[in-house]
Amino acid sequence: MSNKKLSTDNLHPDTLAVRAGTLRSQFNEHSEAIFLTSSFCFENSAEAAEKFANAQTGFIYSRFTNPTVSMFQERLAALEGGEACVATASGMAAIMAIAMTHLQAGDHIVCSRSVFGATIQMFSTILNRFGIETTYVDLSNIDEWKKAIKSNTKLFYLETPSNPLTQIGDIAAISNLAKNSKVLFVVDNCFCTPVLQKPLTLGADVIIHSGTKYLDGQGRVLGGAVVGNNEFISKLFTFVRTAGPTLSAFNAWVLLKGLETLSLRVEKQSQNALLLAQFLEDHPKIERVFHPGLVSHPQHELAMKQQTSGGAIVSFVVKGGVEKAWMVIDNTNLCSITANLGDTRTTITHPATTTHGRLSTEAKKQAGIEDGLVRISVGLEHIEDLTKDLLTGLNLI
Ligand SMILES: *Cc1c(COP(=O)(O)O)cnc(C)c1O
Repeated sequence: MSNKKLSTDNLHPDTLAVRAGTLRSQFNEHSEAIFLTSSFCFENSAEAAEKFANAQTGFIYSRFTNPTVSMFQERLAALEGGEACVATASGMAAIMAIAMTHLQAGDHIVCSRSVFGATIQMFSTILNRFGIETTYVDLSNIDEWKKAIKSNTKLFYLETPSNPLTQIGDIAAISNLAKNSKVLFVVDNCFCTPVLQKPLTLGADVIIHSGTKYLDGQGRVLGGAVVGNNEFISKLFTFVRTAGPTLSAFNAWVLLKGLETLSLRVEKQSQNALLLAQFLEDHPKIERVFHPGLVSHPQHELAMKQQTSGGAIVSFVVKGGVEKAWMVIDNTNLCSITANLGDTRTTITHPATTTHGRLSTEAKKQAGIEDGLVRISVGLEHIEDLTKDLLTGLNLI
């Protein structure tokens, strides 16, 4: 293997997306190869000994490292502006790896109330059994973050914009709090991707990704990643190589190729989303539209300060509750009815009866998950086809 070092310092993200990750085999292939091998051979015992002494950089066994996985890690780290990256089998595996690397019994997490459902499950039911406690706070209420800090607080955790209501957390302000209390600040950058938001440059310590969403962007594979400084990632690597939530070489290759078109897709999807949000905002059968790019969004200014555009998630409340929301969803022809998001194809969901269906009526009310709420993850279809598709159901109300 050779690693023709690319100096990434002065390169635009569009260039990094297609050029970062320079590991090549002796054949000097142009397109990155998929290394489907569980283990690697050594020339002799001395080389084996040397590789084992530097397990993070040499290739020994694919639970530890694999060239295809390394190329994906290198490319994503470059795009996020981080020193290093470890890829994982899924987004949840990335979050678990952070917890296992950084926390121990007796520690405390402060977490935004508006994070991915499985993240809350993990913190509240799994980590809780091991003596780790979590306090949930309002994503955009900085006082709540401040008040929740205890002497044993070790981790801050959030996603911004939130799903499905696109609430914004002030990354720079929360990072100041975290720094003052020596707390590790982790941002799930799944919804924006580095194309729209760079949490590390705003003061976050560590980024997690579910590669399953926009990084692949075509609904093909599961994957995850953690990006941070060399010291943290090196500790996290030790957990992943030991416990085994490693990304497969095949999935790494799909994600590596996904990164090449990430900015083209995400920028276009985000543009489509804003056009769709503006269209929906004017519709008489719609009560309210949520998208950070709308001037009517209560945190529009903050969103535009830390993101380059509003992102590709749009939610709206249809007048008339569940029945009318389902009418809009069920009369679409193009939109896929699925809870997944981040795909080039537009997906549509009814949160109150699917992703948030297990919440009590009271909890839904608190979380703002109204019966008439519909969430759309906007894809690459032409905006005129998308608006027509939603009008079919809206015209029947
Ligand atoms: C999907 C998702 C995850 C979990 O990722 P998986 O790849 O499904 O394990 C975490 N965070 C956010 C914001 C997500 O949307």
